[in-house]
Amino acid sequence: MFNVAIDGPAGAGKSSIARQVAQKLGFIYIDTGALYRTVGLNAVNNGVDLKDTSAIESSLDGLEVEIKFIDDEQRVYMNGTDVSDKIRTPEISLAASAVSSVPKVREFLFDLQKSLAESNNSIMDGRDIGTVVLPNADVKIFLTASAKARADRRYKQLEESGESVVWQDVYDDIVKRDYDDSHRAIAPLKQADDAVLADTSELTLEQSIELIEDIIKRNLK
Ligand code: C5P
Repeated sequence: MFNVAIDGPAGAGKSSIARQVAQKLGFIYIDTGALYRTVGLNAVNNGVDLKDTSAIESSLDGLEVEIKFIDDEQRVYMNGTDVSDKIRTPEISLAASAVSSVPKVREFLFDLQKSLAESNNSIMDGRDIGTVVLPNADVKIFLTASAKARADRRYKQLEESGESVVWQDVYDDIVKRDYDDSHRAIAPLKQADDAVLADTSELTLEQSIELIEDIIKRNLK
């Protein structure tokens, strides 16, 4: 199988870019953030204190997280229920970030990610795909953009989906998640030594898609 690992900070456009490039190449797109968001949603639903590591660990008991591809689109299921839309709120973003620093949570999701890559030509995005989950990926890309550019994009996205949000809150959320993701003890967000750096601050979505497609195609032969 041919596996592409794309890592980078929140809001760099990883999912929009990876989804469209995967479609062009006939690969599946695996959004691993959705898995952490699902664990976060489950914890919130169970009233778990997100600072309490053992409570987060206990929330994994009996939890079933599954991914299905419907019309080539990834849907994520929590105990059999499709929660793909419910996990897209700012509250669940922060919950995902909190649970993702717990080693047991990362172990819990590891096999699922690994087996999806083993059985599909895929583009997988996340924070630790090139460094931890798929250290032997065929192509590794570290996709980033300035915090301001990322906040502008995420704000526009949330606005378009009908959420009423304040730009400063979106920006603060991004800066906080960057800090938390890159300073945690386990699987911190960092560029793999053999990853290609792609900065999309000054690029449109179309230009970013072209850039990533080119990087992958160079290695496809
Ligand atoms: O990518 P997304 O913003 O949906 O991810 C939500 C959160 O899940 C991130 O802020 C990060 O803390 C965590 N995450 C992770 N490792 C991954 C993917 C996401 O720790 N591979």
